[in-house]
This record gives sequence, C-alpha cells and structure tokens, in this order.
Amino acid sequence: MPAFCDVALAVPLDMAFTYAIPAGMEPVVGGRVLVPFRQQRLSGIVVDLHDRAPQAKNSAVNSTVHSTVNIKKVIEVLDQTPVLDEQLLKLGKWIADYYLAPVGEVFRTMLPLAAEFKRAVAYGITDAGHMALHLAGTSGSPARSKRTPQQQLVEFRVLDYLAERESVREASLRAATKVSKPLLEGMVRKKWIVREDVSAVRDATRTVKVAGLVGVEAARGLLKLNENQKIIIDALAAAGGKVAVESLRGLDVPRSTLGTLVRRGLVELLDEAQDFTVSKLKPRRSPFEFEFSAAQKEALAKIGEAVAARKFGGMLLHGITGSGKTAVYLACMRQVLDQGRSSILLVPEIGLTPAVAADLRQMFGDEVAILHSGLSDAERAEQWHRIRRGEARVVAGTRSAVFAPVSDLALMIVDEEQDSSYKQEETPRYHARDVAVMRAKMAGAVVVLGSATPSLESYYNAKKNKYALVELRDRVENRPLPEVEIVDMRQEFQETGQEQVISRKLAAEIRERLDKKEQVMVLLNRRGYSPVVLCRACGKTLQCKNCAVSMTHHKREQKMECHYCGSVERIPNKCAQCGSEYVYFAGTGSEKLEELLHGMFPQARIGRLDRDTVRGRDDFEHALNALNEGALDMLVGTQMIAKGHDIHGVTLVGVIGADMALGLPDFRAAERTFQLLTQVAGRAGRGQSPGKVILQTYFQEHYAVQFAARHDFAGFYEKELQFRAWMHYPPYGAIANVLIRSEKLDEALSWSGELGRWFEKTRHEGIRVLGPAAAPITRLKRDYRYHFILKSASREKMNALLRGMLAEAAARKIPRTQVIVDVDPVWLM
Ligand SMILES: [Zn+2]
Ligand SMILES: [Zn+2]
Repeated sequence: MPAFCDVALAVPLDMAFTYAIPAGMEPVVGGRVLVPFRQQRLSGIVVDLHDRAPQAKNSAVNSTVHSTVNIKKVIEVLDQTPVLDEQLLKLGKWIADYYLAPVGEVFRTMLPLAAEFKRAVAYGITDAGHMALHLAGTSGSPARSKRTPQQQLVEFRVLDYLAERESVREASLRAATKVSKPLLEGMVRKKWIVREDVSAVRDATRTVKVAGLVGVEAARGLLKLNENQKIIIDALAAAGGKVAVESLRGLDVPRSTLGTLVRRGLVELLDEAQDFTVSKLKPRRSPFEFEFSAAQKEALAKIGEAVAARKFGGMLLHGITGSGKTAVYLACMRQVLDQGRSSILLVPEIGLTPAVAADLRQMFGDEVAILHSGLSDAERAEQWHRIRRGEARVVAGTRSAVFAPVSDLALMIVDEEQDSSYKQEETPRYHARDVAVMRAKMAGAVVVLGSATPSLESYYNAKKNKYALVELRDRVENRPLPEVEIVDMRQEFQETGQEQVISRKLAAEIRERLDKKEQVMVLLNRRGYSPVVLCRACGKTLQCKNCAVSMTHHKREQKMECHYCGSVERIPNKCAQCGSEYVYFAGTGSEKLEELLHGMFPQARIGRLDRDTVRGRDDFEHALNALNEGALDMLVGTQMIAKGHDIHGVTLVGVIGADMALGLPDFRAAERTFQLLTQVAGRAGRGQSPGKVILQTYFQEHYAVQFAARHDFAGFYEKELQFRAWMHYPPYGAIANVLIRSEKLDEALSWSGELGRWFEKTRHEGIRVLGPAAAPITRLKRDYRYHFILKSASREKMNALLRGMLAEAAARKIPRTQVIVDVDPVWLM
C-alpha cells in the first residue's frame, strides 16, 4: 500500500489534502475516507495514492513551524470500492477545472450521500479537569471565580459526569447535566475538558422501508376507505401483504394516504434488511403505444442509429410546442433499456410533475429512478444506491441527475435544454446541459438536447454541424399555430388617456371566449400585488433592508416581501423618509391582475399560478388539472403557466408586459423574451381551431417581439447571432462574471479595487476585462457587490487568467467565498 493519499474535501479551497495511510487501511481512488481537518472530521474522496512525502504547504499538517512535517492520518476508510468510478472522477475534475470550483465541493455535489454521514461532537475530561474536580472535593470551595455559584455547580456536575465516562456525546452531556453551550466552551478554554469531532458513517447495513398489511383482510368489506386508501390496500393485498414504500409511490396516490392508513392501524411500516425480496407491484398496462408521425419516426430512427454506433454523438431536437418530443424521448429510452443499457433524462425543475413521474413509472416500472428536489437526503441516497447496483437503468431527474452513477450509459436527453434551472447558482456553478454533453463525450454516448426554443449556443452548434439538427416542424395531428396580434400600449395610452393594464382589445377578446365557454390564459411575469411602493411627497421607494431592490406589496398576505432575499416587512402607512402619508402602490403583479380580471368578469372562475399559489409540485399540477377538467375559465400567472404540459381547452392567450425583461441590463434579455413569448403562445389552440394570442407591449418594434409574433425561429436566431457577434458574447467566445461581495462596503470596494489593479498590470492578450463596476443589483442579501466581466475567444486563456486572479486573491487574504467566479453565467445581475 502506498504511504499517502490525496483527499478532496468539501471546503472552499482549490486543492486536495495529503494524509498518511495507517497500516492495515486500504483506501481506494474514488472511495471515501474519514479524515481530521482543522478541528473537525470530514469525509472526502481519495483522488490519488502515492509515496511522495508532502511539503508542509499543501498537506494537512498539525503545525507549519516544525521542520519535520507531522502529517495527519486517515481515521477510517469508508468504501472498499469506489463510489465515483473513473469516468465520474474524470468528469468531476473537468467541472472543477472548467468552472474554477474547488474539486471537493464538486464531488460533494455529485454524491448525494449526506444522509450516510452523521455529524457529532463529544467531550472528555482532562488531567486538569480531574485536578479541578479533586480540589473542589477537598476544599469545598474552588478557586476565586467570576462565575456564579450556580454556574460553578453546573461545571462540577459536568466534570463529575465525565470523570466516570470515557467520551460523551454533546447531546447526552447536555441532557444529563443541563450545561449551556457557552459554559461548555468556557471549560474547553480552561482546558478542563476537550472537545472532539466524532462524526461517523451511519450503520452500513441498509434497510428498506416496507409497508405491511395488518390483518384487515376479513374486515375489508366493513371498513370505510376512500378511493386512494382502497388503491393502497388492494395493492398490498395483491402483492401478498408487503410492498416496499418506494414502489407504492408508483400508484399515483398522495403520500399522506399511507400515513393515514398507518394511523388507522391498517398498515404498519417495517424496516427490512436490504436484501429482503420486496414483492414487486404488477406493472399496469403501459398506455404508451405511441402513434408516431412521420417526423417523429424519423427522429426516433436517427437517435436509434446514433446509439447503435456506440460513440459520442450530439443532437439538437428542435420541435415546436406540441410536436410530441416527450413521446420520442420515452420511446428512445425504452429501446435503450431493451438493449440492456442505461439512459438519463434531465428535465427542468418545474417539468418533473407527479404526472410525469407517474408516466415514467408506468412505462418503466421498477427500472426507473426518479430524482427531484422534493426528496429527503435519505431517499436521495437510496435512489443513488439503486442506480449504482444496476436496479434502475432509466434515470429521470432535475439538474443533479446528470451525475447518476449508471453503468453503460447509452443515451442522455436534456429536455427544454434552454431552461435556466439547469444552471446551479451556487458553487460549483455548473450547467447541467453542458455537463451532460461532456459526460456523453467521455462515455461514448449520445446526447439529445430537446427544445421548442433552443438556446443560442445549442442552435449555433447545430448550425456549425457540431450537433446533428433534427426538427419536428408540425404539431401533432397538424394542429395549426395560433394567430398572434400585437397591441401597442403607447397607442392605447394615447387613445384612452390613461395607463391601462388590460387593453380594450384583450378585454373584448376575453369576453368573446368566455361567452363561447372557451378558456383563457393571461401571463404577467411578475408576482405579488404591486412591485413598487412610492412616496408621493419625496419620491422615496421602499427598498429591502438587505438588497438594493424594491419591496413588493402582497395584498392578501398583507405584507411587503423582497423577491430576492425573502425578507418581509409590514405594509407602510407613511413614508419612512419624510413621514408623509401619501404612499402610493404602483405597478401591477399577478395578484393584482387576478383581482382586476375578477372585477371585469365577475362570472368567470379564475385561477392563479405563481410562486405564491404554488408551494409544492402537486399545487402546480392541481391548477393545470382544474383548467383541463373545465373547472376554471381563466388561468392567470407568471412564466409558470407557459410551462404546463398538455392544456387542451385554451383558445386565447393574453400577455401583459410581454417585454418586461427587455429593459434589464443583461445580454440574454432578448433571448429570454423570445423564448417566453414562444412558449406561452404555444399554449393556445384546441383541436383544429387555431388559438389566438394577444401580445401587449411598449416595444412593438423590438425584434424579439416581432419574430415571436410570426413564429419565426430562424429569423430571431439570425438577428440575435449578429448582435452576439458584434458584442463578442456567447456563442462567439466565452464569458465569465467575477463577483466580489462583502457585507462591508469598504471591503467590497477595496478588494475589487485590488483585483482591478492586478488585472490592469497583468498581461492578458485576447481577453477583455470590464470592471470593476457595481453589479446591476448593487446590494443583495446584505452583501455589497462589485463585478468584472471577462470576454475571450479563448476559453483556455480566460480560465488561466481567472486562476491567476484567484491565486492573487488568496495571497491578499480575500476569502475564497467572497470571490465568486461564474463561468458561462446565465444571469449577469
Ligand atoms: Zn416621503
Ligand atoms: Zn432583499
């Protein structure tokens, strides 16, 4: 066995740490080890085994003063076999390199195994502690002290308790002695007791949660059960009485139903050892006997051929809304599974509704693992193990599913590849679509990027033949595209003499649809009641105390809320600056829009869909179901309503403030506007009757609005690519945003000034450095923010310069957590 191992730890430092391997231990590259780090125990990934004695600089030494380096030792080897195979290790290192992220933090993101590691602290008594206890016992009064007699009493209770025991967990010690945290810390400082991190891995024998029927067979006829309860009881009975809880989720009943049955004593929950053979639910007959159009068949064949070639291939599946992309994905995944190989489907955060999950379960039964943000740590770990054991060869999930440990990966699909939820907005700031492409490359697999409105980058790559372009030009059953009419709101203002939220045209069209018992959707991409509160006397607006942004008025919940940090304040009745009572609530959000529409159409049943009405994944689906079932006449909401699947009855879509995003100082503003307008327009139309879309705008001549109104993708891309080329924005060259932040304004200023001077005096041919400048949102979540924007035709050169900058920041003792490097940023705000 080599003498040392290098371990990547999830700490904000761009390095691995060297530890000595004690005799008898056999860590493996890609496996986890438990190691001491500063005063803690951390689990990390072994990235190298070697015999090179480390230098003091980059090893986890006890002290840097001694000439002989005293290297800390591995405490425990947690894995006998790698948890990250060679390919995933390589992918993690690529991410660390490409996004300039600490490699340990990358690995932590890739491995959802937090549930297996239990943090704990324990205390033990020292010789000094024994002495203090002894003195107190003999003299009766300890040395003079600032502490109260009660505090001294507690201290001696702690010493007494510890004197009889070797090492006691903090929780037990505090429960037994009622000692406070500060008092414990004081005792550590006096060296009477020692604190030790005893974090450890949980019991390795894993168990499975199983639901068992409690002898109700005979009484079944007599029990009052609702529909959902009956489904579960029947399923348990059919499977012989016991079924893994996990597989009950495939039944499409609310999670709470099982809990109710347990409380009623009809079902019990048991922990069975993992090798317990769980009876599988009989798969329901698959409803997925697809009737494919010629274009879909062609797409399927092309993907099938590429998979059969067993080498890397990229494909952009550009299919207009309603063209049946999802059916193509599922059919491809079934083919791959039939060949005994693996596939991963990535969907945007909002795309993974319970209905989609139910479809996947129906189609793939136990072979599918579904990963989403609603899972607990333990559930996530369980899914991860199922995938790794090869039990689930079909994986569907949001962003981090790109790291699913499947073997023999054949196909990776990224649905709605332009969606911004694929970008992680914390370290490591990776983009799951781009990681998917890289993973497919490393695995010799096929990657399919699907979208109705592809990102500029992907469309450009397809045009340059880096990806094969597969187009689905027709909607299924040849449903016609909606007619789009633009309403110029400046003209509306001139003609009516007042600022309107809903134009006369839109109001008339809504009335017509409601009379015909047809359904309407109205999009306003801003939640809350009023986005601005303004003092008429002094002009001051109410800003968040943590962020340099306006607080939004939420009428029903009677509060002011910051949409960036979530802080909440009371609704002001007078100006905080001048005391005037003339405070004015300006502008319109989705809550106010709903109220306005209620006023105009009192008979209509109106639902609202935004982050205030949608708390969980179920809420989103419920609202869409209500629309589908005809329980609603109108649905109002933010961009969420643009992203629903399969809404059939809507014949009119109104868009209020179609151009709101165009005012933002962000080079992607036009692209985002075009995508949103195209998506929401795709919701209009029913059967053979074409829908209609009304776009209200103040920028009617803007090309994003014009091209969206004409359903002209190619036209928009050509125009937008010109703009990107002139400005050297992606896809013409790479871009990075470097954000310097601090709660102290002078720190943020001086750090960004220091780094600015460093950029100035450092040679960086072929790289444009803009800044430092105040970020568009100058203060966010208490931090003052300054930034640099780097642009370069050469990603290698840009990353080299960024590495140099990080080294300079480290040398100047600017904390790594306050210098944020965002490569390929999605937002520049
Ligand atoms: Zn005022
Ligand atoms: Zn805020």
